[in-house]
Order: sequence, then structure tokens, then C-alpha cells
Amino acid sequence: AYRKGGYHAVRIGDQFSGGRYIAQRKLGWGQFSTVWLAYDTRTSTYVALKIQKSAQQFAQAALHEIELLQAAADGDPANTKCVVRLIDEFKHTGPNGQHLCMVLEFLGDSLLRLIRYNRYKGMELNKVREICKCILTGLDYLHRELGMIHSDLKPENILLCSSIDPAKDPIRSKLTPILEKPEGNQNGAATMNVIEKKLKRRARRAVAKISGRRVSIVGLSETPTKTKRNLDGIDMRCKVVDFGNACWYDNKFAEEIQTRQYRAPEVILQSGYAFSVDMWSFACTAFELATGDMLFAPKDGNGYGEDEDHLALMMELLGKMPRKIAIGGARSKDYFDRHGDLKRIRRLKYWPLDRLLTDKYKIPQEEAREFADFLCPILDFAPEKRPTAQQCLQHPWLNLRTQDNEDHIEGQMSKLQIKN
Ligand code: ADP
Ligand code: MG
Repeated sequence: AYRKGGYHAVRIGDQFSGGRYIAQRKLGWGQFSTVWLAYDTRTSTYVALKIQKSAQQFAQAALHEIELLQAAADGDPANTKCVVRLIDEFKHTGPNGQHLCMVLEFLGDSLLRLIRYNRYKGMELNKVREICKCILTGLDYLHRELGMIHSDLKPENILLCSSIDPAKDPIRSKLTPILEKPEGNQNGAATMNVIEKKLKRRARRAVAKISGRRVSIVGLSETPTKTKRNLDGIDMRCKVVDFGNACWYDNKFAEEIQTRQYRAPEVILQSGYAFSVDMWSFACTAFELATGDMLFAPKDGNGYGEDEDHLALMMELLGKMPRKIAIGGARSKDYFDRHGDLKRIRRLKYWPLDRLLTDKYKIPQEEAREFADFLCPILDFAPEKRPTAQQCLQHPWLNLRTQDNEDHIEGQMSKLQIKN
């Protein structure tokens, strides 16, 4: 993909925007871009540099993304609304063409990495609550204040805030940002590789320092794997990123939106969508954080496709889809008969959310019921009945007292009783 119209190949030490930004290390990539950790020589801070593929359609998409990110930044001068901040943007010309580049505030690991780090076992509900508050704050801002639909909410697109501010951190003084490119190419490829390797090692050390090995998970991509897998005491703040698919609610450009597993039923059926598609994806994400499993993981099978399986899974969890909704979409006829029954998947095994949480995930009954009470209304088949992000923020589940503390106290009490 590093070809004309494709990705821009970056080497550690490469300079951007007239030397202001210096590439340190690759942070991640997506379909249309690569994302690099870069040092901003003007502000002496680290930033994330998202470099778009150069072909026209990618440039167009990047311009759109920049427009939305800019609107989000303009509406939130204090940067408190849980949406990634756009710092700068510029064009960079390389051998593969012209690339639009976005400079974003530098964030930590994605929730997907956090879920993996927890070995897909799910996180304490107290942590889930904290993360949910952040995501909802972001969504409320996007929806109510900006009129924007994110359209691709999922764990991968929610990044933790690094708990150490690199600018204020005392260990930052030990940093050695890579400020220059390896000298010339005359040395030949072999030598270049040695230099690159050295620089990479330096970059890794630098990143480990700013991320702080003390902070086990938020430690960006350099998370030490041997430390105890324990998220105690870590502040679970996070931000919504990736506005590559976002749109204004009154100017949508795609019918098929969202990543499969987080896709709302009205998108599958093509009955039109609104802000509430993000709420659906939010509920799927919250479940996944708590259990380590995707809420819906549809597969195609004998005689039916992924879409129909997906609809079947939804109904097994949430009950039968009301007939009017089932037959109301442009694509309803592909999946439902006129009674509102699936055409090819006939026998559904109902397994409601609270029971799934207790039976399969061993969450204590009371906690499971409370969590299901929070999630079920968001998973309403009728999009207009789903609570808004603002309404969800008022839900008592988000402010529940921690059961773990109570368990802990009970544990202590029984120890005391044994002693006595
Ligand atoms: P795409 O639109 O190509 O999916 P994203 O914006 O989702 O691009 O970025 C791709 C990956 O790059 C993310 O999953 C994440 O790992 C990393 N990344 C993106 N933005 C940042 C950021 N601000 N700070 C740190 N890492 C980031
Ligand atoms: Mg992405």
C-alpha cells in the first residue's frame, strides 16, 4: 500500500510541516492512514500525526474529517468534552503524492487494547462506569451541541487519556526526542537499517518514559506485559477518536455505516438513522468492556447471511422485533416475511441480557440486573425510544456505589469475625 495514491512511508526522524513535527514512532494505522507519534518542536510536546493516503478520494475524506474535528475543537475551547482535539493540519508532499495530515493531541491505548490486556475477561463494573461516563459525555457533546453523528463508535475508536501529562511530568526532562533524520542515504541500506534500529530503540525508550512504566496499562503501546494485570488506581478517562466516518445529522452521505458488530438494526434494514445509532454502538461497547466478549458477533451460515444472523442474535437477546419495525426498512424484504418473522432462521433461543450476564459471565444477580437496566433501553429496536446520551448520563447506574468496595468490606468483616 506504500505506492502512488497510497500511504506515505515515514522514517523515524522525518520532518513535517517545515520541520515543526518530527516522527518518533508508529502508533497505529487504519484503512486510509497511518498514525505516528511526533514531537512538536514548537510546543515541546508529543502529538499524534495522522497521515492520510494521497489518492483523491482519501484526500476528500480527510478534508471532511478535518472539518468535523475542527468544529469539535471550536465548540470545546476548554477541551473537556471527551473528544480528541485537532491541533493543526497541513499538506505533505512525498513520493506517493500529496498527503493531508492531521495533528491530534496524543492519547493512550484504545479500549480494544485494554480489553485484550485484560485477556478478554471483562473489567470491573466500576471501571466500566467511568469509561461509560466519558463516552457519553463525548456523545452528548457531538449529538446535542454539534449535531454530529459519529457513525463508527467501537472500542478501537475510543482511546484512553494518558494519565501523565508529558508537558508537566518531571521525568520528561529525561526525554530525548529524536530531532534529526539519519544522515544521508550514501551509507547504503545496511547502515541505514542499523541507524533506524538505533533510533527506534531510542524512540521506544523515550515513549516508555513519557508514558511512564509506573502506569501499567495507559502505558501506550509500550505496555510492559509482565506487570500484574491490574487496573487499580488508574483513572479511566478516555476520548472518542476517528471522525473518518462521522457526519452532520442533516447531511448524511452513506447508507451503510458502522462496523458490523456495532451496527444498529435500522442500518441493516435501511430504515433511516439518526443520533441513536451511536447509542446502539455505545451499548455494545459497554457490554464488551464488562464481559470481554462482543455483544453481537454474527456469522453467515448455511443458507443465510451475516445480516440475517445478526438480526437473529438481536432478537435472541432482546425479544422479537416489533413487526412494524421489522418490515419497515428498504431491505426488510431480504430478511423478514410479511409477518415479521425471519425468512431463513426460524428457531430463536431467547436469552435475555440480565440472565446472560449472570449465567454466562457470572456477574452477581443484583449487579447484572442493574447493568441490564442501564443497557436494555439503549438497545430498543425503535431508535426514537432509545434514551439520548444526555438522558443516559442521568441514569442511576452511572453513580452506583461500588459493589466491589462492599465485597471488600464484607471480606474484611468476615476475617475479623474469624479472628474473634
Ligand atoms: P482510521 O480512520 O484510519 O481508522 P484512526 O483515527 O482510527 O484512523 O487511527 C488509527 C489508529 O491510530 C488508532 O486506532 C490508534 O491506535 C492510533 N491513534 C489515532 N489517533 C491517535 C491519537 N490521538 N493518539 C494516539 N494514537 C492515536
Ligand atoms: Mg479507526
